[in-house]
Amino acid sequence: MAKMIDGKRAAAAVIETVKAAASRLEQTKGVRTGLAVVIVGDDPASHTYVGAKGRMAKECGFNSVQHTLPAETTQDELTKLVQSLNEDPSIHGILVQLPLPKHLNSDAIIQSIRPDKDVDGLHVVNAGKLATGDLTTGLISCTPAGAMLLVRSIHGEDLSGLNAVVIGRSNLFGKPMAQLLLNANATVTTAHSRTKNLSSVARGADILVAAVGRPEMVKANWIKPGATVIDVGISRIAAPERGEGKSRLVGDVAYGEVLQNAGAITPVPGGVGPMTIAMLMANTVVAAHRTCGMILPEF
Ligand code: NAP
Repeated sequence: MAKMIDGKRAAAAVIETVKAAASRLEQTKGVRTGLAVVIVGDDPASHTYVGAKGRMAKECGFNSVQHTLPAETTQDELTKLVQSLNEDPSIHGILVQLPLPKHLNSDAIIQSIRPDKDVDGLHVVNAGKLATGDLTTGLISCTPAGAMLLVRSIHGEDLSGLNAVVIGRSNLFGKPMAQLLLNANATVTTAHSRTKNLSSVARGADILVAAVGRPEMVKANWIKPGATVIDVGISRIAAPERGEGKSRLVGDVAYGEVLQNAGAITPVPGGVGPMTIAMLMANTVVAAHRTCGMILPEF
């Protein structure tokens, strides 16, 4: 039976470090960590995420600022807002909630954020630093950074000799996750929708990371006995057993059956999910420390 990797506990530990670091920064330098979150339009899921980020930022003692813009906001208006946040010394982190409405060019907006304030780690400068093995001067995308903390909680810092398979190759998760694993000396395979014999590729993994968005795709016979399984996917499926019209969240991994032969596994919910917000707070407090030349907190 696999050990359950408790993402809520790991995230709470990150948040405690963030709170202590933010308070120290304010006391020693008089600098209050500032996070600005920008949301455009009325997407209910995005508003839920942004609300949770704002609440957590306040809990961490940050100056938490939310800019809520109407769905018809133009590219020019959004660019101007990002520029003003880039220039605002009280703001250390800027997050533009994705997806943006279809008429807006998301990539141009993300690339207009100053890299040292890009707490989502999506700017090409930050992606490039990670790709070239510089893990110390940039900002790393929050979900892979959080997933990597969970991997390290099982295997430690050095993954030498271990095979890691990441299913998914998005810029948001799959690619940065593969690079983090490679930096930690794992032998890494990145699989995706064109990969042949995916189940046998997955069976080679000592560390299997699934970030696809297909409910319970990864079955027990995809798992090398004793492997660590990190489930990033989140899907909502119908749950008639809970009552008419009810639903529940599931990951990319068939948790119930994989639990039997994995060595360690993250649940959904309560695994990688809570780590994402925690690492956003961590990136923001790191960005604030850099502006003051302070020694950075470690996560
Ligand atoms: P994405 O951009 O849609 O990427 C999905 C990846 O899965 C793509 O690389 C795609 O391959 C691959 N894929 C699709 N079907 C596949 C199949 N049948 N076999 C193998 N690979 C397949 O999604 P994402 O942003 O990376 O997110 C992935 C999942 O993680 C989603 O469920 C998302 O909700 C979740 N997520 C969770 C968090 C969190 O906080 N916990 C954060 C981010 C994402 P191609 O490139 O070939 O199309």
